[in-house]
Amino acid sequence: MKARAPHIKSRRLPGPKAAAWVARDKATISTSYTRSYPLVVSHGKGAELTDVDGNVFLDLNAGIAVGATGHAHPAVVKAIQDQAAKFLHMSGTDFYYPQEITLAEKLGSLVPGKKPKRTFLSNSGTEAVECAIKLARYKSGRTQFIAFIGAFHGRTMGSLSLTASKAIQKKGFAPTMPGVTHVPYADCRRCVFNLKFPSCGMACVDYIEDVVLKKVVPAEDTAAIVVESVQGEGGYIIPPPGYFQKLQALAKKYGILLVVDEVQTGMGRTGKWFGIEHWPGVTPDIVTIAKGIASGMPLGATVASRELMTWPPGSHGNTFGGNPVSCAASLATIKLIEDELLVNTQKVGAYMAKELNAMLERHEHMGWVNALGLMIGIEFVAKPGTTIGSPKIRDAVEQECFKRGILVLGAGPSAIRLAPPLVLSRAQATTALEIFEDAVTHVERTTRAR
Ligand code: PLP
Repeated sequence: MKARAPHIKSRRLPGPKAAAWVARDKATISTSYTRSYPLVVSHGKGAELTDVDGNVFLDLNAGIAVGATGHAHPAVVKAIQDQAAKFLHMSGTDFYYPQEITLAEKLGSLVPGKKPKRTFLSNSGTEAVECAIKLARYKSGRTQFIAFIGAFHGRTMGSLSLTASKAIQKKGFAPTMPGVTHVPYADCRRCVFNLKFPSCGMACVDYIEDVVLKKVVPAEDTAAIVVESVQGEGGYIIPPPGYFQKLQALAKKYGILLVVDEVQTGMGRTGKWFGIEHWPGVTPDIVTIAKGIASGMPLGATVASRELMTWPPGSHGNTFGGNPVSCAASLATIKLIEDELLVNTQKVGAYMAKELNAMLERHEHMGWVNALGLMIGIEFVAKPGTTIGSPKIRDAVEQECFKRGILVLGAGPSAIRLAPPLVLSRAQATTALEIFEDAVTHVERTTRAR
């Protein structure tokens, strides 16, 4: 079956209505935003998105890995409408309501680890990370953190201090929170130690123990290692088998907490509930969740064992976190993921990974594909056979995809990321891949790699 979308009817993009909105936006909206192309959304259904000029796009980034259930899923919309008609807000910090408790119970059962859990609810990924930072410091009595080069954990001062993805995100904002040491992530394609897996013995973990904890920051002062199970903004980088087991063993050895940021990788995105589950036996002390958790309604969650998340009333709280409408959207989202979307993600993700890997043979500037479920990174290289990235080719592919009606985004310096809604059908995936390849072919013919 052929997919209906995309359908671009404007003679060129942006169409006239979109162009007018972009001009108004330029005059009024903060210039700090990073729009890659002029998509002005009118409405959406599943993986299809229609712009204000009536152009229909296939959405392969779901509002940056957020819209797990696709646009306007009827079950999610109904849950939101039903809850909105009952009450919109009642501050979970000061009062009780069943929606928040039910969601905490559910998340506690999904997050890895046998111990009973508690959850702190907020509105975003960065707040989920802020909570993890505070909890780790409070419970350990230690102040220091280890984070990773290439990491993205958010943009508020605490989480920004852990972020090391692009220098512009920090430029002009120093000092951020003191006490963070960044170490190399397990990026085996571009190993900073110039070693090869598995003969390296995961020297990047040994480096933390042998160099960082001995010379830079004492283990007894280190509250937590904060890490993404797959580096998202950093370029969709997947650590090798055994990596997180070794990292966890190191953390345990020194009584350091392991905080796993699942903001982008969580809620079924990688074909498992949480990315860390691809490394069996790893049980994070604290897990942060947001993005796909409520299909686009603002919600963040920080989950830890009941024992760890026991801190005095007043030590942490908020006004909007765990908003009942967001909780209702989240419960509906979780049910859909449980019932059908986890399986769809595995199937469609495996199909896309296979097709994209086959494409590598036909396109010399496509370097490699990193894929887990529907979290797929495609790296573009300047020189075939090398790991020298080509931001120019990547950027051009992103633009050509938009012109052809598929929405993709960059990640890291030279990768395209595909993070479609988990409802993406195989037919839609086939159409998207054909268009993607057409865009790559065009760019390889017309663009200099450097
Ligand atoms: N953590 C990770 C891994 C992320 O990818 C992001 C956002 O991209 C965040 C935290 C911050 O989330 P938010 O933008 O909702 O604050």
